[in-house]
Amino acid sequence: MRKFLYYAVPVALCFVVGMLGSYIQGSALVEWYPTLVKSPLSPPPILFPIVWSVLYLLMGLSIGVLIARGDMSVIKLWIVQLIVNFLWSVLFFGLRSPLLGLVAILLLDVLVFTYIIYAAGRSSAAAWLFVPYLLWLLLATYLNGYIYVYNRYPVTVAAAEVTQYPQQPTNKTNTTMHFSLPPLGYAADALAPAMSRETIDYHYGKHYKGYIDNLNRLIEGTRFERMSLHDIVLNADGVLYNNAAQALNHQLFFEGMTPVPQPIPAELKSRIERDFGSIDEMRDKFATAATSLFGSGWVWLVEERDGRLAVVSTPNGVNPINDHLNPLMVIDVWEHAYYIDYRNRRADFVKAYWPLIDWNKSAARLKVHKTATERV
Ligand code: MN
Repeated sequence: MRKFLYYAVPVALCFVVGMLGSYIQGSALVEWYPTLVKSPLSPPPILFPIVWSVLYLLMGLSIGVLIARGDMSVIKLWIVQLIVNFLWSVLFFGLRSPLLGLVAILLLDVLVFTYIIYAAGRSSAAAWLFVPYLLWLLLATYLNGYIYVYNRYPVTVAAAEVTQYPQQPTNKTNTTMHFSLPPLGYAADALAPAMSRETIDYHYGKHYKGYIDNLNRLIEGTRFERMSLHDIVLNADGVLYNNAAQALNHQLFFEGMTPVPQPIPAELKSRIERDFGSIDEMRDKFATAATSLFGSGWVWLVEERDGRLAVVSTPNGVNPINDHLNPLMVIDVWEHAYYIDYRNRRADFVKAYWPLIDWNKSAARLKVHKTATERV
């Protein structure tokens, strides 16, 4: 019975500590995932809590073996490594300091290696039970170091709710949510380096999603509930207008980009040349408007009611459909669109945005066609 307790107590203790640690890591991993996933050696996040739980059980068994043999000499080392392990978890996941985490995990590597050496002199079983833990720790050390090197930007926003985006629309109809986040037409990292995965994670996964969530909340139980997004933007004002227009603006923005550079389709090209002189002149006008717009807003290539094309800027969340203009192409120049990748260099972002424009989408949005344009 006593022998059973030698095993049961450390195993139970490890299980509780392991589960607690896994819980902290599991929830924090969701937040770190964008950086972590870039590493070629990174396992899927679900493995972390599973592996840690198993490893903690092995650690409990290892110390159980030594206690059962009446050999208490290594127990201090075992406790110290457990404390350092927890310290690392707190520094890396809790305080989100990859640098302090790296220092702690390197210390942990040394302690665990020392434990194995000491334990081997007393019981080979106790030593072997620690080997998977050491191997996993070395991988964790590499991932910690990877995040330290590549995570140049501090994460200041709360944990991401969305880490993997649907690539296909789901057919499920949700009766309580009127509008849902449209799927991205490309992988979240497909636009990198012009637009990094981290920017997509925040811009698409948090900001855009936030506008849709607000919109759904605001229209509930109102006459807007049965309207299309387009009609809400045309009829709402105040905070509902701001959120609805931002939802529409972001829809146009995210669906209007492509990782594969597109030639401008013939009709759109000839109309740009007709109204701006050349593609380059339109691009310059667009870039100047985008870099010089004061504060937050959007710069658009629009089609006027007579079919003429123009570049216009709108402040904050305003969409040009309120001025009877048809938006063809747009750039988001709110700071959240470029601050992670370009910091304050908006001009660099505007330049990098140009090759991402999906001109097929812009052309498909044209409403005034040949017969009408020939009249102007
Ligand atoms: Mn935005």
